Amino acid sequence: MLDIRDPGTFQGPDAPADDDLATCVHCGLCLNACPTYRITGLETESPRGRIYLMTRWKRGDLPFTEELARHIDLCLGCRTCEAVCPSGVPYGRIIEGGRAEVERLRRPNPRSLLVRQALRRLLAHPGRLRTVGALTRAAQTLGLTGLVPQGRTLPRLTRAYRPPRGGVAPAPGPPRHRVAFLTGCVMPLLYPSAHEAAVRLLQLAGCEVWFPSDQRCCGALFAHNGDLEGARQLRDHNQHAFGMEDFDVLVVDSAGCGAHLKDFYPNLGRRVRDLTEFLDEIGLPPPEHEVRLRVTYQDACHLVHAQRIRHQPRRLIRSIPGVGLVEMAHSDICCGAAGLYGALQPQMSSRILEEKLDDLLATEAQVVVTANPGCQMQLEAGLRARGRTDVRVAHVAELIVEAYRPSAT
Ligand code: SF4
Ligand code: SF4
Repeated sequence: MLDIRDPGTFQGPDAPADDDLATCVHCGLCLNACPTYRITGLETESPRGRIYLMTRWKRGDLPFTEELARHIDLCLGCRTCEAVCPSGVPYGRIIEGGRAEVERLRRPNPRSLLVRQALRRLLAHPGRLRTVGALTRAAQTLGLTGLVPQGRTLPRLTRAYRPPRGGVAPAPGPPRHRVAFLTGCVMPLLYPSAHEAAVRLLQLAGCEVWFPSDQRCCGALFAHNGDLEGARQLRDHNQHAFGMEDFDVLVVDSAGCGAHLKDFYPNLGRRVRDLTEFLDEIGLPPPEHEVRLRVTYQDACHLVHAQRIRHQPRRLIRSIPGVGLVEMAHSDICCGAAGLYGALQPQMSSRILEEKLDDLLATEAQVVVTANPGCQMQLEAGLRARGRTDVRVAHVAELIVEAYRPSAT
């Protein structure tokens, strides 16, 4: 069924800029790096094809149809194409604008409405999120995961991360750096131990870590799903919340949030650092223990492609005595998580995940580490589904901190 509301109109305030679209010279060098093209072999599911469709649509040569929207929907937003493009196409910005247009023109369907309402009503409100976390924990305890949306993908929730009393984690001695820390929206619920490890490492590196009490979700998931207005509201709120204090850098331990802050927050972006980027820069004290583990590393797309951070996490992992880092094939190809993509495009997501699991298991690693909660959740769910609970998934901070724990093996 054609679902045309406003045919040919691709000129909303958030539409991709002509100059951005025109940077594509159609060379095709991005095609084989694109996960959806690698799987389908279709030009329309490639970066070049999507840019071509958006350009024709914007010129009025193509009407808006649900079929056209589906090609935009199927993009993971992984930005692998952006990283390999010799022409500097700002694909992340283009696809966010394209998605905003799709959402503006498309007749609301139940699934996209549900996603948008869930984002606006939950992620932007820490208190409501904590309540949902408590209810989800109760459902998991009672074995009622079927009642929870995406219940089988979620990790077992234990407790929510709480910043230290007074909102400051002190440095062990005179502080070398005063850093702010983004707690984010779902990460305190899903992976509290990753935050604990990240803060502990920052303290070991001589940082005083400050948590602005009024901070909210950074808005990355809003922007990736075409709700740029919702993303702007959160940006304005957070720029005010963080702007009230003085700090050297704002440290982020979630790749998707870090990339969004760097790109979308004009007043904060230049002071944002991924945790691995910052620890690699300032240095950690010598590790105290060996950690005898065979480890592989999955590049989070928004770390390696959007932030171009490839070597820093690997250097940190290799610095731990006892760890054997085994590179997996295609480690910088998306795992299929991509924010809410797994929920919105489950078939393509699981096809991409299956290829990732084959590469991962071929390394015979005991632990796979990554730097983004979405990747962590996707890999855990995939390994569970294959019955491979012997392979642990961890945030890179959780692995590194083991070298500073008395219980490390
Ligand atoms: S996006 Fe870049 S790499 Fe891909 S076809 Fe266009 S210019 Fe070439
Ligand atoms: S963002 Fe990822 S999925 Fe989308 S076109 Fe680029 S490489 Fe392909």
